[in-house]
Amino acid sequence: MIKVSLSDLILIGMAGGVTLVCALWLLAVIRDRRLNRRIRSNIVFCRICGSAYHNENPSDISVCPVCQTPNERNTMSAI
Ligand SMILES: [Zn+2]
Repeated sequence: MIKVSLSDLILIGMAGGVTLVCALWLLAVIRDRRLNRRIRSNIVFCRICGSAYHNENPSDISVCPVCQTPNERNTMSAI
């Protein structure tokens, strides 16, 4: 049987907790970046009136709700 002192047990518990918190934080960051990328990919800027709107359709061409002009899907760069 392996003998572990109380201080080692506390240290192992704290290390495991820190590792768990870091892993959950990393997963939250990855999920947030994916969500932001998906939201940005659905935003279309009208080439005529300059308004921005969401395009939920999978097609590359959407119609501006303000001026009814067909626009191509464009990509927004990250800030
Ligand atoms: Zn427009």
